[in-house]
Amino acid sequence: MPKKRALITGITGQDGAYLSELLLQKGYDVAGVVRRSSHAGVADHRLRWLGVADRVTLLDGNLVDLSSLIRIVRDVQPDEVYNLAAQSFVATSWTQPQLTATVTGLGVVNVLEALREAAPEARFYQASSSEMFGKVQTPVQDEQAPFHPRSPYGVAKLFGHWTTVNYRESFGMFAVSGILFNHESPLRGLEFVSRKVCHGVASIKLGVAKELRLGNMDAQRDWGHARDYVRAMWAMLQQDAPDDYVVATGRAATVRDLCDIAFPHVGLKAQDYIVIDPKLYRPAEVDMLVGNPAKARETLDWAPEVNLEQLITEMVEADLRRLSANAAQV
Ligand code: NDP
Ligand code: GDP
Repeated sequence: MPKKRALITGITGQDGAYLSELLLQKGYDVAGVVRRSSHAGVADHRLRWLGVADRVTLLDGNLVDLSSLIRIVRDVQPDEVYNLAAQSFVATSWTQPQLTATVTGLGVVNVLEALREAAPEARFYQASSSEMFGKVQTPVQDEQAPFHPRSPYGVAKLFGHWTTVNYRESFGMFAVSGILFNHESPLRGLEFVSRKVCHGVASIKLGVAKELRLGNMDAQRDWGHARDYVRAMWAMLQQDAPDDYVVATGRAATVRDLCDIAFPHVGLKAQDYIVIDPKLYRPAEVDMLVGNPAKARETLDWAPEVNLEQLITEMVEADLRRLSANAAQV
């Protein structure tokens, strides 16, 4: 049988790296869209960390350049397309709202249009987000929970979600929207709170930082491991019919809880190092998100394998190793 071909936008991001690893293990040919940077050789650092950089094909394109996407889709002729590219940081979406709307929102239209034009039979995954629930109206969010986004990022993701549903209903495309709750890993961007805490703890432990500045410690999220969550993305595209799924652990924890796992792991007390910085509060906050993954569990046979304590300790350990290696090189 010929190898299946997957195309990933956002292949250089956290999820793109773990999804590449998974698809390569499953025998796929993997290609990804990479936007041009003036910094040579850094874009693929996550793929290198996982040891898969030389096994994927990176193609020059951008989510806001439809012509580049059409060309790439025509060349790759993918069986499956995972649209993971986005301006993905909520806080930045207030300082760059137009860019966020263009990339995170309109970018979804561009990928779907490229598929209509050059590979209409390809199966399509859209990386939707629990941020679409925003100001939640149900204690736990499933696929039926109402949306009320609280940031330009959430608004853009909601546009992408409904666009995906609409292209499925309008053109009969195999297009699915995965509504994923927060998922983290040692490859998470440094600006997200989980990584910021774990990197901060490792830095304090190694004597290269004295404090950790944070915003709203009471915010609650449902945090899982990215490696678990990319399994759900793949499973959604293997079903007989396209549908939308919530992917979550079902457990809520506060930012304070994260700190109370990370600091004691290296023998430190969180309260000795945390400084609350009002500048890190958001113009509109999402106070609490916790998902109900029952549909994913039943239909996709999906369950997370890593719990919050294991996730945070893996992340702290990875940052301790990375920071120690850097110190040794200096
Ligand atoms: P990352 O921020 O780690 O990765 C985003 C990726 O998008 C990077 O590869 C980035 O490229 C790429 N990108 C950004 N702008 C463009 C552009 N204009 N053209 C092409 N590529 C672009 O995000 P994650 O891996 O964490 O998340 C993957 C997806 O899932 C995102 O859409 C995110 O919004 C969504 N999501 C994530 C959740 C999470 O908790 N991680 C939860 C729910 C949804 P570069 O490397 O050059 O910056
Ligand atoms: P988000 O859920 O996609 O916004 O993921 P983040 O990791 O960026 O933020 C999760 C929660 O942590 C939000 O409610 C933030 O307000 C809260 N938070 C508190 N302090 C910080 C901080 O210093 N950085 C970030 N990124 N978030 C913080």
